[in-house]
Amino acid sequence: MSRICEEIGKIHKNTRHRVKDDEKSQIYQIICLEPGITRKTIVKKLNLRPTSVSNMVSELINQNLVIEGEVKNEGKAGRPEISLSANYNVSVCIAVYVLSKYLKAVVVNLIGDVLFENEIYVPEEITNDELMTRLVGIINPLKNQIPAASKLLGVGLSFTGSINRISQKLMNEVRWSNIQRLSLKDLRDIVGCEMTILPSLEAQLAHLLLEVPSYRKGGTLLYHWGYGIGASYAKNGHIITSTPGYVMEIGHIPFDSSNTIRCKCGRIGCLEATASIWALQQQLKDQYPDFPEDENELSRYLINIKLADSPIMKYAVESIANSLAILHEILFPDRIIFLSSFTVNPRLFADVKEKFLENISLSMHKNTELIPLSPEFRGEVFGSTYGLFHKFLREQLIAAN
Ligand SMILES: [Zn+2]
Repeated sequence: MSRICEEIGKIHKNTRHRVKDDEKSQIYQIICLEPGITRKTIVKKLNLRPTSVSNMVSELINQNLVIEGEVKNEGKAGRPEISLSANYNVSVCIAVYVLSKYLKAVVVNLIGDVLFENEIYVPEEITNDELMTRLVGIINPLKNQIPAASKLLGVGLSFTGSINRISQKLMNEVRWSNIQRLSLKDLRDIVGCEMTILPSLEAQLAHLLLEVPSYRKGGTLLYHWGYGIGASYAKNGHIITSTPGYVMEIGHIPFDSSNTIRCKCGRIGCLEATASIWALQQQLKDQYPDFPEDENELSRYLINIKLADSPIMKYAVESIANSLAILHEILFPDRIIFLSSFTVNPRLFADVKEKFLENISLSMHKNTELIPLSPEFRGEVFGSTYGLFHKFLREQLIAAN
């Protein structure tokens, strides 16, 4: 059950609304939380008038948000009591995201169930026009698969690389180095539907903040060690952003002046140039020729190999831990969510943690949680589409009568 259903009863909070709008959202919420509930039970549980419940349920059925099921008191005296359940496929969104060098797209319903999916490999040398063609080519076939009874609300696009919020351009993306100032506004026009555009780590953190209420208290840092390296941070549930939109480009900061490796961004000695998956693949290719660049494949690969003693890996672990400690000393987060394929190897995760703790003040050891996140976590799917679903439901849950 998605958090959206658990909080739907308060969807009108902080907006101008009437008591009956709250009642409608509470009725919808109880149907989501207790599938099979009847009108009679809703009246009892919410302490509302039977006519109000009856009218609101009729509205919800007409809007296709709720569907009627079996008769619960068949053969018994009295009015028939019909079970009610939510129709989560009433509206869907397409979420587009990046994983290693793949563009992935999924159709998700109101509670985040994936109904259809599509993916496409994007070669390193791709140009702006070719990437645009691929983006359209991954979205449009999914649009055609959506059943007529489901309303497409829009596309949630979460992208790695630097997104300028003001110009809505993908400024650059080191995994596709020819990409410069790709207009995502143009993509919206071509696809012809509403689109929300978020940096990948921001969409992932947005999802975590929605799903785990305790993460909305204090500081939460999300750190990603993968094909790229980056972070995002929220204080009391609010994600920090900059005016253009980029934050915490931690992967492109040189931490070690003796490091002379050129990064894909063109600078020398960036953290990504030694510790990212693409850099490790290059450095380890003699010893581990099949070291994968795909994050999901890597997490499966790491289960079977002992990598922690490799000097290249040790240096990478140390660099990651140092960058994490620097972010910690700047932000003092209450928790760090650590998203990485490397966490499947307990020794590697323990080494990162040990080196990290060595580099922060002793008094903070007990106050900072380092929480590993499953490498197959795809929070950006719901994080990038939540706003579209929320807007739809807020409009739908305004009572007509
Ligand atoms: Zn760089």
